Amino acid sequence: MSNSIALVTGANKGIGIQIARQLADGGLTVYVGSRDAGRGQRAVDEIAGDTRLLVLDVADEKSIAAAAEQVPSLDILVNNAGIMVGNETPPEASVEAFRRTYETNVFGVLAVTNAFLPVLRRSAHPRIVNISSGTGSLTWSSGSEFSFSAGGGAAYRSSKSALNALTLFYAQSLADEGFKVNALAPGLRRTDLNDRAAASDGDPAEAAAGAVALALLGDDGPTGEFRSWDLTDVPW
Ligand code: NAP
Repeated sequence: MSNSIALVTGANKGIGIQIARQLADGGLTVYVGSRDAGRGQRAVDEIAGDTRLLVLDVADEKSIAAAAEQVPSLDILVNNAGIMVGNETPPEASVEAFRRTYETNVFGVLAVTNAFLPVLRRSAHPRIVNISSGTGSLTWSSGSEFSFSAGGGAAYRSSKSALNALTLFYAQSLADEGFKVNALAPGLRRTDLNDRAAASDGDPAEAAAGAVALALLGDDGPTGEFRSWDLTDVPW
């Protein structure tokens, strides 16, 4: 798949820039999605290889439509852009925090995926990777060994649970067309996502390698699954 074309949303920093870099290192053409042209161009300049800036705000319908017009063919879509707004439990949280979170993490993925589906459908090996989170696993959130604060980060975590459901439904809807649609739990990584991530020593490149593996799945690969960065199964 070295002559494939990929788009990574939110690829100007964090896990996204590492995914874009590794795909470009593999010889793919990579659209570096960024809502800010300056930040995106800096990422393009930093990554060697065949990379192109694509200005794309996943929470803005006009931006999505304009971006889709600039991409005539596409094999791989990595829905990586994501935000975390606050760390509240539902009784403490504002509806506004949920709305903002869902606009990017859920509605953004739906809107971007649907906008790029026409070009993905022309690919011989279409792949979609949704960057989710282990904190969105309802099994891991409810088991006796769960390691997340009870009910905390409810807006973010439930947005990733919804993203997991979307992943499954896209996989089922597109299975007959040869799509592979999977979700990745990247593990805790040192990025700007939140204070916990920023203070961690998790290498974002290690998580990116898991996303790249799902992006480059062969036709016999799985679809509709939730995998960790090392490709082990994560329970829904
Ligand atoms: P990050 O460093 O904060 O990067 C997030 C990226 O998303 C940035 O490029 C950001 O762009 C972009 N973004 C946010 N809103 C956007 C929008 N409306 N349109 C386009 N781009 C937007 O965080 P990260 O950790 O790399 O996060 C990447 C993904 O991994 C997210 O989906 C996150 O939920 C997931 N994740 C991360 C961890 C972790 O420990 N880091 C764990 C589990 C899951 P700007 O620079 O313009 O803000």
